[in-house]
Amino acid sequence: MSTPLPVSEFLNPRSVAVIGASEDQGKFGGRVYRMLLHHRFPGTIYPINPNRQELFGRRTYPDVASTPTPADMMVLAIPQPKVKQAIAEAARAGVRGAVIITARFADAGPEGAQVERQLVEIARAHGMRLLGPNCLGVISPANNVVLCSSPALEVDRLIESPIGLVSQSGALMATLFDASYDLGIGFSHCVSVGNQADLELSDFLEFLVEDARTRVICAYVEGIKDPARFLAAADAARRGGKPLLMVKAGRTEAGSAAAYSHTASLAGSYASLAAVCREHGVVLMDDPEAMILLAACLARFPGRKVDRVAIVTTSGGGAAIAADRLTETGIGLAAFAPETRARLDVHYSTRQAGNPIDLGGRREGQASDVAFDTMMAVGQDPNTDLTLFLITTAPALPVITANLAEAALRGGDKPFLFVMEPAKAANASRDELRRRGLPFCNRLDDAVRAVVGWRQWSRLDSPVAVTRPASLSGPPPAPAGALGETEAKALLAAYGIPTNRGVVVADAAAAVTAARGLRFPLALKVVSPDIVHKSDVGGVALGLGDPEALRIALDAMAAEVARRAPAARVAGFALQEMAPPGVELIVGARYDPQFGPMLLVGSGGILVELVGDVAVAAAPVSPPRARQLLESLKAWALLVGVRGRRRADVAAACEVIACVSWLAADLGPSLRELDVNPLVVGENGVVVVDARALCEG
Ligand code: ADP
Ligand code: MG
Repeated sequence: MSTPLPVSEFLNPRSVAVIGASEDQGKFGGRVYRMLLHHRFPGTIYPINPNRQELFGRRTYPDVASTPTPADMMVLAIPQPKVKQAIAEAARAGVRGAVIITARFADAGPEGAQVERQLVEIARAHGMRLLGPNCLGVISPANNVVLCSSPALEVDRLIESPIGLVSQSGALMATLFDASYDLGIGFSHCVSVGNQADLELSDFLEFLVEDARTRVICAYVEGIKDPARFLAAADAARRGGKPLLMVKAGRTEAGSAAAYSHTASLAGSYASLAAVCREHGVVLMDDPEAMILLAACLARFPGRKVDRVAIVTTSGGGAAIAADRLTETGIGLAAFAPETRARLDVHYSTRQAGNPIDLGGRREGQASDVAFDTMMAVGQDPNTDLTLFLITTAPALPVITANLAEAALRGGDKPFLFVMEPAKAANASRDELRRRGLPFCNRLDDAVRAVVGWRQWSRLDSPVAVTRPASLSGPPPAPAGALGETEAKALLAAYGIPTNRGVVVADAAAAVTAARGLRFPLALKVVSPDIVHKSDVGGVALGLGDPEALRIALDAMAAEVARRAPAARVAGFALQEMAPPGVELIVGARYDPQFGPMLLVGSGGILVELVGDVAVAAAPVSPPRARQLLESLKAWALLVGVRGRRRADVAAACEVIACVSWLAADLGPSLRELDVNPLVVGENGVVVVDARALCEG
């Protein structure tokens, strides 16, 4: 058994056996064979075809066992039922790797999945590695290797850019390759991983992190097989200074609306992924083309951070729309420095010299000359991180474009990006940009998405160590089943979290007696293992000022709950003091099957889903990190005091959030869901007035 083929060799094999090679361009083997020749594969090609002596002047072989030396790689797209035998023959012949394009394995159901497992067993037994099945293969412009039959490869030559792409969708890989080519963007390597029976996404991420020809990594992901390995690769990319951009499908797979807790419905798998990505420096985007555009920008302007944008355009309308779009996404328009304004004032009336700049608003002179001067001024503006050129059809477009580009290039490595829609009047200018390798895109939308991602990357904060608060002892005994308010509060109290526990009573008479030990006004709540959201069934009464009000409220509540939840077993009624006024937060935890314990904080109360003001992070967190999460909420304005409200005790809230996150981390998978809702954040101190949990077992 030879040593297993390193992953890098899938992108750079010394020899390739093409199963079913022929002249027939209607067949996979025919197309791959021609593509390898056309793109000047530097290694040895073994066309495999038992019915031919030679093809395009090259000797063919009847099978993989007959080649002079065993091929490094074999590529095949034969019918599904024949794949297993072909892999077995190749493995026996000493072929070291196979790209299996054929589909209908795990993608088609359990039977296919079983055959797929057998392929892996056969391969492993012989030290052979597999890519696919159900993939579109590999395109490696860095190595002139194409193990792929996509029509997107029908180009004169492959463009090499330092962008590595790994895609779980083959069709998407080919489409992105095609669309990128049109923008002059190439790749170092593109890999379609298909069903990932053997080699998977992270194998190639790890390779790209190490690869000298790759500076930016892009991934299109549908499901992550090994989250820990993926995150380790992300950490390595960050350490290596290579941006890792990712689009993950399944964004809208919302947490189940019928979830036990608010947290489970708000911090579903995508929200958890997004939180983890942020922490590991992965830029998560929602559009594959914008991802590639951003990759091209980051490759072109390595290390440049972007926050404030200048817009230069040939149209007032374009300027206004671009300004709106950027501002809506929270991107700031650069406020030009006085010296920049002074230089622009020469060409524009004062109103026009601001950002955005409309070349059409110049006082006099040729648009192309003014464009050059404008860009020289903006390019040197200390308050501008990136210039967006929004070019509409205009007379002398090629000259304007060339002058803008020329001036932008004199700014050295200061980022710029053109937006120029493909059309008759623009194509010559677009060709010019492509020829010079300058970044441009088709639509404002792509540019805005790329800039949003760029800013996200620019703002990634460095990982901070989390230390366990000294006040916390070891993990509490793991509880079992669904915990109502009383049990959940007991768990929190054991972690030093302030709760208003109150007393549970059976009826109105007992309530009145118990109330003597409490301070009015009181809150009254139904206690039932069958009622998760008490307010929904009339099970919460607040601000009860005296024993009489308490008695009336309890009887009314008993009747109302019996009417609205007739099947619910009522174990009693909880009597507790009213919390002092404050801001209501939800602090939740959920065990994510992929990423482990997650923390959620947000605007609390009974309408949390409706308000949807939440932030998610991997647990545990430090109090400063808890504060960052709070700062990202709309509720932050309430916490720091708006409209005459007093500032709430944010520090105490952060301590409690950190403790809840440690509880989640300590209990791990045994704490499936936890809602602390609300945590009332008062002027001095905080208190949990409601909680529930769902535990394993
Ligand atoms: P549930 O979430 O099951 O409907 P809660 O116990 O959270 O029930 O009560 C609903 C709302 O009532 C809370 O969001 C909070 O606004 C208010 N509330 C409940 N208990 C108290 C209390 N002790 N002091 C002040 N407000 C309370
Ligand atoms: Mg509640």
